[in-house]
Amino acid sequence: MDYYLPLLYIGFLLFGLLFGSFLNVVIYRLPIMLERAWNRQARVQLGLDETKEDKQTFNLAYPPSHCPHCKREIKPWSNIPLLSFLLQKGRCVQCGNPIPWRYPLVELITGVLFVIAFWHFGWTWNVLAAVLFTLFLIPIIFIDARTQLLPDILTLPLLWLGLLFNISDLFVSLSDAVLGAVVGYVSLWSLYQLFKLLTGKEGMGFGDFKLLSALGAWFGVISLPIIALLASVIGLIFAVILNIRKGQAMPFGPCLAIAGWIMLIFNTPIMRFVEWWVIGKA
Ligand SMILES: [Zn+2]
Repeated sequence: MDYYLPLLYIGFLLFGLLFGSFLNVVIYRLPIMLERAWNRQARVQLGLDETKEDKQTFNLAYPPSHCPHCKREIKPWSNIPLLSFLLQKGRCVQCGNPIPWRYPLVELITGVLFVIAFWHFGWTWNVLAAVLFTLFLIPIIFIDARTQLLPDILTLPLLWLGLLFNISDLFVSLSDAVLGAVVGYVSLWSLYQLFKLLTGKEGMGFGDFKLLSALGAWFGVISLPIIALLASVIGLIFAVILNIRKGQAMPFGPCLAIAGWIMLIFNTPIMRFVEWWVIGKA
């Protein structure tokens, strides 16, 4: 009966690898596009002349993919997700310089997460939601880790998608989702203001508030303390692994995003555990 099931799994894996390849472009180019746009605005504000950079087209589709070392265009057969990297032993075919490990990693992660989403949700609307959720979270994780930026163009649509999907109670009720979005933003914002008042330092960025707000829109208000707790644990683990010293800044966005993805899959058991724990202790 389920003879097509293995095919669906393979389909999700291949789609994940392909989308991962596109996400690599987003991760590399979006921060550059934003920075150029800010610079251009600043020059307009200051009444400065347009620079050569302002006149160049640079977006997700143009210029075509090229090797960062030799600047030569990457041929289609060298652009096959994962496979090209393995066949070329992680090097550019034209100049032999190493390709960053981030490229195959993002492709592999996207493929694996798509497969897990399908395994968990099956052929349902939830799996479509989970795939979209993943497509936003992966660039959020890698862009914030690389550049300490959490672009609005990723966090805000993620928030709207959560609200839209929950119109039909896909993960939580719509009222729970709306409350989650508001409380998610306000709670971190208050924490930030308090921290600033006490220490004079800025512990987080506004992107973090928007990201937690988005996760609140997906999983409801009750999920927020759990996501925050999970994210803190993940942050601690990363701090130990990456040997981050006291006082050194570490982006919180990736931790929130990973916690959000865990919540996507383990929502029900986590909620059951919390209920049991709260009621059990009462
Ligand atoms: Zn090259």
